[in-house]
Amino acid sequence: MSTKIVERHEVPVNDTWDLESIFKSDTEWEQSATTFKEQVSEIDGFRNKLSESAETLYLALSKQLELQEKLGQIFTYAHMRHDQDTGNSYYSALQDKAYGLVSLFEQRASYITPELLAMDPATLDRFVTEHKDLQLFSHLFDQLRKQREHILSEREEELLARAKEALNTSSQAYGALNNADLAFPSIKNEKGEEVQITHGRFVSLLQSEDRDVRKAAFEAVYATYEQYKNTFAATLSGQVKSDIFNAQSRNYASAREAALSETHIPVGVYDQLISTVEDHLPLLHRYVKLRKKCLGVDELHMYDLYTPIIKDVEFQVSYEEAKQKVIEAVKPLGEEYVERLTQGFEDRWVDIHENKGKRSGAYSSGAYGTKPFILMNWQDDVDNLFTLAHEFGHSMHSDYTRRTQPYLYGDYTIFVAEVASTLNESLLHHHMIQTLEEKEKKLYILNYFLEGFRGTVFRQTMFAEFEQMIHEKVEGGGALTAEELTQMYYELNVKYYGPDMVVDKEIGFEWARIPHFYYNFYVFQYATGYSAAAALSKQILEEGQPAVDRFIDFLKTGSSDYPIQMLKKAGVDMTTSEPVEQAMKLFETTLDQIEQLIND
Ligand SMILES: [Zn+2]
Repeated sequence: MSTKIVERHEVPVNDTWDLESIFKSDTEWEQSATTFKEQVSEIDGFRNKLSESAETLYLALSKQLELQEKLGQIFTYAHMRHDQDTGNSYYSALQDKAYGLVSLFEQRASYITPELLAMDPATLDRFVTEHKDLQLFSHLFDQLRKQREHILSEREEELLARAKEALNTSSQAYGALNNADLAFPSIKNEKGEEVQITHGRFVSLLQSEDRDVRKAAFEAVYATYEQYKNTFAATLSGQVKSDIFNAQSRNYASAREAALSETHIPVGVYDQLISTVEDHLPLLHRYVKLRKKCLGVDELHMYDLYTPIIKDVEFQVSYEEAKQKVIEAVKPLGEEYVERLTQGFEDRWVDIHENKGKRSGAYSSGAYGTKPFILMNWQDDVDNLFTLAHEFGHSMHSDYTRRTQPYLYGDYTIFVAEVASTLNESLLHHHMIQTLEEKEKKLYILNYFLEGFRGTVFRQTMFAEFEQMIHEKVEGGGALTAEELTQMYYELNVKYYGPDMVVDKEIGFEWARIPHFYYNFYVFQYATGYSAAAALSKQILEEGQPAVDRFIDFLKTGSSDYPIQMLKKAGVDMTTSEPVEQAMKLFETTLDQIEQLIND
């Protein structure tokens, strides 16, 4: 296998994304950026005038959308050109320019939302009845209406805006400490060489098949966190306090309610997730037991959680094979879906290979009016195969949404985004299990699924539960000391992993390592998205056409409806325990399958 990484210009054009379909050349981009800069001032003319008449309001909002749509394409082209080769200084400058235009636009258009919010709701209603083109904005106005009761006086809003940066300090201090100042010690790897632990290396060290290596890495990392536990407790506590300050200032009942209201998710969905996952913890305990058996250890420790239990499987997948597998896997979604997706491969949506300077990882991106591009750094393995299916799920979602919705509703929230992508993974998993013949490979895929499920549904829900606990504690007048945080986090681990796991005391300090606790009630959406996707794929495979039609309609909805409503129409009601129950059923069936294969 060649390990040489090529230069960008050496990559065959057909294996790169077709950014020329946005702007034919960099010159054309430059012209477009210049024109945009001139046009942006056109938005100024509507300041303080939105409530004058229906027509003025319509013209202002249309102008805002027109500029925003153009800006989306300008920004997308620049940031993707930059990502394909971050060492290219011309494209770095292009991206900087694009950021400049975004901030210019935001400043110029910043008066629109506050002015809309300040408008008398009765006037707004009258305008909508008067002017039929304003009806398009009805859902947007409805969203604003829900926000209105949490908007304060002008003076108070100004104070909150000014406090924003200071309230961000805890999170910034955490980032500086965790990413820059904190240094982990060196340990000996499998070959006996000294390696210094970094955040990036920690995960692969934990995956080591050499138990001494993963134990040493685990102990070294958490000893480091323990050393700084009081500072970490102060930053986390500061973050929680600022979440609560913001929520209380805006008259929300809790920090969680405030955070979830941004995407209109009722807090009941969050509670439902936690309680349903807790009801099914015996399944996670069964998985822990299986892991202990497969590894053949007397005691299973927290540092034994990431090493593969299915070893030495030669499972290479080339990009061409992956492409065929993904196309085959999504067949249950119907001819049109398959055709569009196949066309995506032909139309150069994907930037396939790794090259010098290319941004790492994978994503699906693009803007309204562009192709839904995908960045990959292709390696011939199962992980990349599933990632490709995942990113195509996002891109197909964008494709359906943008072809159906006007620009205003041509995007979607994270709560529904992960449903579309994970659903494709789910179908791929099903397809692989149906078609693979070799036992070893089947075991590998089954385990791949269990690992993904554990990491997404169980682990993220545990994070969500911890986040809720620490906020509630402070809201109830309590304080978050290092000892308390560690104790709470440790006990959660005991509860989640069950009787077959030796919960080492070090894991108690993991709360200090997880940046997600600074994301303000964000991570539960990974678990809900995964569960919804599992439930929907089950319906699609069992029910056929009616379930497919509901799902395709869901893909077309964009942001023209509330996420919970959209999912309800697609067939999953996230306010009930049903979707998580169905996902758990899938986990259980997979456990049955893998246990049976192992015992064969
Ligand atoms: Zn995703």
